[in-house]
Amino acid sequence: MRRSLVAIPLLFTSVVFAQTPDIRAQQIAAYAVETYESAMVDSLRELVKHNTVAVEGLSALDNPAHQAFKAALARQAHRLGLDFQDHGYVVVIALGEAEKRLGVITHGDIQPVDPSKWAQSPFELDETSEPGRLIGRGTEDDKGPISTALYAMKAIKDKGIELNRRIELYVYMAEESDWGPLQEFVKANSLPDLNITIDAEYPVVTAEKGYGTLSMTFANQPIDTSQPYLSEFSGGFFGSQIPEDASAVIQHADNALVAQLKSQAKQYNNMQFQFDQQGNALQIQAKGKSAHSSKPDDGVNAISYLAALLNGQRWPNNAAGSLVNFINDQLGTGLYGDKFGDIAYADDFMGPMTVSPTVIKGVDDGVQLNINIRRPRGKTAEQLDVEINQALDAWQIASGVTLAARHNYIGEPFVQTGAPHIDTLLAVFSHFTGIQNPEPIAIGGGTNSRLFPNAVSFGPSMPGVEYTGHSEHEFISRAQFRLNLQMYTAVMVELAGKTP
Ligand SMILES: [Zn+2]
Repeated sequence: MRRSLVAIPLLFTSVVFAQTPDIRAQQIAAYAVETYESAMVDSLRELVKHNTVAVEGLSALDNPAHQAFKAALARQAHRLGLDFQDHGYVVVIALGEAEKRLGVITHGDIQPVDPSKWAQSPFELDETSEPGRLIGRGTEDDKGPISTALYAMKAIKDKGIELNRRIELYVYMAEESDWGPLQEFVKANSLPDLNITIDAEYPVVTAEKGYGTLSMTFANQPIDTSQPYLSEFSGGFFGSQIPEDASAVIQHADNALVAQLKSQAKQYNNMQFQFDQQGNALQIQAKGKSAHSSKPDDGVNAISYLAALLNGQRWPNNAAGSLVNFINDQLGTGLYGDKFGDIAYADDFMGPMTVSPTVIKGVDDGVQLNINIRRPRGKTAEQLDVEINQALDAWQIASGVTLAARHNYIGEPFVQTGAPHIDTLLAVFSHFTGIQNPEPIAIGGGTNSRLFPNAVSFGPSMPGVEYTGHSEHEFISRAQFRLNLQMYTAVMVELAGKTP
């Protein structure tokens, strides 16, 4: 899938890349890394300490961890001689007085984390476990980029560059959980007319898939319990993470069934299955690999593969049994919804829609399945909604199971066509990476780019390199951190500096 998402030329960019960043931008970028590499790591170490995950029922405004994080940002901004404004959900750190502005969009909140899966605390920057890597929640998404932007601004300030655009670093505190407060902020405040988001990938992201969630409940139903049946099936952690863990319990698992499952388990060499027999109950723990759900091929979905392991028979339709039958019938281990009625589709530039079961939750009347979709342009939300419902209706008839609490949330894809700074960004990327003729790309993830005028994403991650944000092994390499400081410094000089 990644291949189809990367580096497919856009028709409207017939750009000649003779352009390189001017010598002043190169010099200040070099100065930034020579002078501030270790200070930038210190900054990140301080930001990572704060567990800025969203807490249900507690606004980011009242969350002590979010307040402490913003206080740390304020201290850093003051130390660097940058303006600091706290607008509640949004913090703006700025350099310069010009009326025109360049916005740099980031976020300070993080995704949930399972500390038991980390060598050290995810909230202490781990600089030693894996040489060359800075490991911690938020290092790549999106606290590392905040530290980088701060020191890019500091380097420009040191060099006394005259700015014809004030540089404004926006740090939003609920990007991972709730875009509502940012939408309100955007309505109430005037925004820069030129923006880069540093929360995705290089070289330049001009299209983002739409996010969606399909949820449905498999109800508790009486079944014949004298035969093998599934009494439990669970898995997943949060909606935008490809699940690493899943588990199932089979009652009345006889020796033949246990032997068949164990032998079949060996066929999946990307998965680990652990079998635990207590009396005639067999528990199976499945371990895959977590990843950002916009890049399902970076992970191994434990829910899909555990269901596949159990696909040797049709299970009695209690809650867990009908759930597993559904996953095998409609999803399988494919990533693109090919088995799910007619919903699958793809766009030449944006790639295919991805369809990933991510969270299974026990609810009062059964088990709720949540499927994360990431969709390109090419179908309206209405059409997709109809097709999803047709597939679910057909499955209900075929299986004799009635799904409860069905709900489809289908977000819109985003395509940026007008941004005037794409060529500058591509030129900086090409110069510092040595990658020739880079082209704009589309990604599966969604960023706040869509809320800011003329915004496109520029880094912080290299195309074709596994993205670790949202995973249980999040890091930024020291080399990438340095490279980002060079590129962000150069881009700010190019886009905001007065031509000498
Ligand atoms: Zn992010």
